[in-house]
Parts: sequence; C-alpha cells; structure tokens
Amino acid sequence: MASRVAVTRFAPSPTGYLHLGHAFAALTAWSAARGSGGRFLLRIEDIDRSRCRSVFEAAIRDDLAWLGIAWDGTVWHQSERQDAYAAALTVLADRGFTYPCFCTRRDIAQSLSAPHGPDGPIYPGICRMLGAAERDRRIARGDVHALRLDVARALAVAGDLAWTDREVGSVVARPAAAGDIVMARKDIGTSYHLAVVVDDADQGITLVTRGDDLFAATHVQRLLQALLGLPTPAYHHHRLIMDEGGGRLAKRTPGVTLRDLRAAGATPAEIRSRLGFV
Ligand code: GLU
Repeated sequence: MASRVAVTRFAPSPTGYLHLGHAFAALTAWSAARGSGGRFLLRIEDIDRSRCRSVFEAAIRDDLAWLGIAWDGTVWHQSERQDAYAAALTVLADRGFTYPCFCTRRDIAQSLSAPHGPDGPIYPGICRMLGAAERDRRIARGDVHALRLDVARALAVAGDLAWTDREVGSVVARPAAAGDIVMARKDIGTSYHLAVVVDDADQGITLVTRGDDLFAATHVQRLLQALLGLPTPAYHHHRLIMDEGGGRLAKRTPGVTLRDLRAAGATPAEIRSRLGFV
C-alpha cells in the first residue's frame, strides 16, 4: 500500500552527542519521508538554554551528514520561537485553560497528595484553588510563577480525543493522567509540550516519529492541539534501542555515541544495517 506523503522531523535537544537510539529515530523519520516522497525536517529543541551547547548542535549536523541523512529546508531552533509560544499561551490563558502556579518543587514534593504520573509527581492543584485576588496580588508583588494547564477544565471543553499510531492503531487520549502539567516554566516561559505542538503545526508535520518513551507525551499534546485548534499529525512511536544489558541508552552511556562508534572504525553503512536500515 502506498503510504501518504509524510512530512516528518527529527527533533533532538543539543545536550549531548547523538547515540545509536538517536540514529534509529532519525533514520525512522528520514526513511518515512523519503519513502513517501515527503520532507524530512531537522528541529533543534533548545528551549532550555542552560542545558544546550552549540558544540552539540554542530555535532548533530555532522553526525547526520555522516550517516547519509540530509534534511530539507532550514533548521528550526525553538529558542527563536518564543513569540509563537507566547501567542499560544495567550490563547490558552484567554480561554481560561491555564492558571499561574507559584509552587516550588519542594512545595509539591511535600504535598502528601502528590501521586506520580508519567512526567513525575502529579501536581496536587494547590494554586488552582487560589482566588483571583490572591493570584493578582502575588503577580503584582513579582512572585515568580509557572503557568499550568487546568486539565479538567480543558477536557470538559475538548471532549473525547484520539490519535492514530502506526504501531498500535487508534489510541484514546487520556491527558488527565498527567494532571495539571506546566505549559510555561518559570525559567524559560514555555514548556516542551507547548513548543512541540506549536512547532509541529507550524512546520506542517504530518507524521511524528519518535521513541516509545514519548508515548505518554502524546496524550497531553493531543489535548493541546484540540485547545489551540491545531491539526493532529499521525504518530509512530517506535521501539527504543537498548544497550547490551537491556538498559536505556543515555547520552552519557560510553561507547554508543556515533562519535565513539565512528572513532572505533564503524562505517555509516554498518550503523544503518545494525539498526535495520539499508
Ligand atoms: N526533543 C525531544 C528529545 O530529544 C524529542 C521531542 C519529540 O520528538 O517530540 O527527546
């Protein structure tokens, strides 16, 4: 069956060197685009400037080129997209879907009613309960705050949502499992989920390919698409590449970065075939 023309992206954060897992993710996105006559985009997810280094971005470009992966068009940087994220936050705030949260990590950890969700402790809703006057008073006083999604309110408006995943078919979105997640961090004014959803729409991404470890994120991102009136791409959450002991690869796992493998004499063709690509 001919697949639909796919616009895909590889969206690494430049916080370390690419490893075999990244190579698999990039090859999955690239081959879906190339195999359908579509486009493959490279997006640098560098909203958290404190963790990102230009040397790692240079290495990402170099490693992809070495692997034989060419991207289409210009490379987007999330650090240059703050206006787009601010506009989306305004839409959410104007519709009453967000509220300011003044809590520290410690406040949340100390709350006895903080169960764990896919992204860590589920926020127990402390600041959702604040009255408008108290919120205004704290903001006027200059208290730093994040913006959180009022997920119950958002779901009441958005209704039932689903998405299609190439591995598992139709998936019912259950964003409530993550609780009132942060839409704008105190320090960076946006969040991973918001930035990804806005960028996927603005870049015309039709197929999001990414590791299974981000499956839970799609529940939240599907809700944000609905709230912001953005299209929903198809998804392909692919398997993760494990180390020899069956553990998750990390940027600090020795011997598995593309740099290390290259230095040890591996060729791009060997890497591609080891990962199941020709
Ligand atoms: N920047 C994320 C990462 O490096 C990927 C985000 C995504 O594919 O949605 O894991």
